[in-house]
Amino acid sequence: MGKSTLFNAILGNRRAIVGNEPGITRDRIYGEAEYRGKRFGLVDTGGILPHEDALIPSEIFRQARVALEQAAHILFVVDGRAEITAADRELAQLLRTLNKPLTLVVNKIDSKPRESLLPEFYSLGFGDPFPISAEHKIGLNDLLDHVTATFPANEQVDQPQQELPQIKVAIIGRPNVGKSTLLNALVGTERAIVSPIPGTTRDAIDEVVKEAGVLYRFVDTAGIRRKGKTKEMTEKLSVIMARRHIRMAHVVLLLLDATEGVVHSDATIAGYAHEEGRAIIIVVNKWDAAENKNKRAFTESIREQLKFLDYAPVLFISAKNRQGIRHIFAAVRSAFEAASKRITTGELNRFIETLDLEGRAKIYYITQASVRPPTFVVFTDRPDPLHFSVERALINRLRERFGFAGTPIVIKTKRR
Ligand code: GDP
Repeated sequence: MGKSTLFNAILGNRRAIVGNEPGITRDRIYGEAEYRGKRFGLVDTGGILPHEDALIPSEIFRQARVALEQAAHILFVVDGRAEITAADRELAQLLRTLNKPLTLVVNKIDSKPRESLLPEFYSLGFGDPFPISAEHKIGLNDLLDHVTATFPANEQVDQPQQELPQIKVAIIGRPNVGKSTLLNALVGTERAIVSPIPGTTRDAIDEVVKEAGVLYRFVDTAGIRRKGKTKEMTEKLSVIMARRHIRMAHVVLLLLDATEGVVHSDATIAGYAHEEGRAIIIVVNKWDAAENKNKRAFTESIREQLKFLDYAPVLFISAKNRQGIRHIFAAVRSAFEAASKRITTGELNRFIETLDLEGRAKIYYITQASVRPPTFVVFTDRPDPLHFSVERALINRLRERFGFAGTPIVIKTKRR
């Protein structure tokens, strides 16, 4: 029917969000759209479930009920190249019971509507049908003029939406480490596991989970799922994907495979996350299948091989058995808070008064320039940037004093 294409055409290049509602087994896709100064939310009730044509109308209706009841306007999309089906009529009948403004959209009309079909569309009883071609973006303005006619313009919207704190999280790691399994465990057991329809433009899909009043936004989950599906994907491609995901996130979950330990490409990916200054949590997955279940020894070998990630907490989980999943939310939250923490210049300068760098440098003044990652500017008596070992000592003292677990710390030196 082309609902997804229409959804994307209206949304333009804004991003879609996948969410779910209790009791509903399919994905629901949301987007914020804007047309001629009017902003409105758009919901694709079909979600991204493939083969939905096979669903019976009452089932579609039941699944979409919440969205339909909340909607200010319903777009009923039918295929302009096909006869109206019995299922269309049945769905029309059900939609009528809602008593809502409804527009009949006849899609796939690339030229003049097929005259012979017009009486049929009228027979659905929703007044004038709006012929469009979602694919070629024909007829969209007429449609949107009509649909948004009664919507308030932006300045009339009295209350801006209250936004919940939102933490963007990327799940990164080699192929087969369990990224998609973990994603599914994080977003819940209820949902159907579906893949984006190939050929749609919905490349980047984020999944949002609300946990204890915080929104966790898992970025680009389409990529994760696609990867889960492509067995022959090379390590190299996974590294490229990881780089992209790291840049989109506040907090990175670096997945390791307990049955394999830290391997070369884990270290490469971890290095990117560190260089990008992202908060990082090391998640050892498949702990159920680990031969030697000694967490301390495993942690030590991680510390040994990923020395630069000494600030990243290590969690042990089994995504498959959904063990340890809840700790991830707490860890993400506290790493995000640490990365976003601001220390006042007063506190910092009281701190340097007690700081002993064993004569290797004298710090006159220190101030926090930015967050995510916490970045400090220090003024010293040296002409050059601080020696690596001195910088390291300073960072360690900052951690001891102020926390910052889970986040890298950046030091910039200025000569006084
Ligand atoms: P991805 O490529 O990183 O997305 O990995 P997948 O999520 O597709 O998982 C790869 C394989 O590892 C699948 O066969 C999963 O069933 C398996 N797997 C994932 N998590 C676990 C786990 O916690 N324990 C065990 N034993 N197997 C797991």
